[in-house]
Amino acid sequence: MTDTIFGKIIRREIPADIVYEDDELLAFRDVNPQAPVHVLFIPKRTIATLDDATPEDAALLGRLLLAAAQYAKREGFAGQGYRTVINCNEYGGQTVFHLHVHLLAGRQMHWPPG
Ligand code: 5GP
Repeated sequence: MTDTIFGKIIRREIPADIVYEDDELLAFRDVNPQAPVHVLFIPKRTIATLDDATPEDAALLGRLLLAAAQYAKREGFAGQGYRTVINCNEYGGQTVFHLHVHLLAGRQMHWPPG
């Protein structure tokens, strides 16, 4: 399995502003935020892309989304609204090949994305 910068964050080899952790997931602030709130939710087990996920990963994928939603509620911006994004491969704009959910909030989002 190819290691990524997120693997180093999981192993605490490089620092990150961690906002949530449990036995399966980690969440930390994006180093290059695209909104006032920009948090990345990742599984501790490496799955390179959404395309690599299998039916066995279904519960883990659900936990990632629920963790993002619970964070939004806990931090008080769920009612105002937020966006979750999973970029996949080149045209999806993925740059780090360890599956992650972006949680963006704190400003008006637009559609369609660029
Ligand atoms: P992608 O483009 O793969 O969907 O998103 C990767 C995200 O990881 C980008 O938003 C980028 O800013 C973020 N990122 C890349 N390297 C680091 C890092 O070392 N620390 C943190 N906290 N975020 C990173």
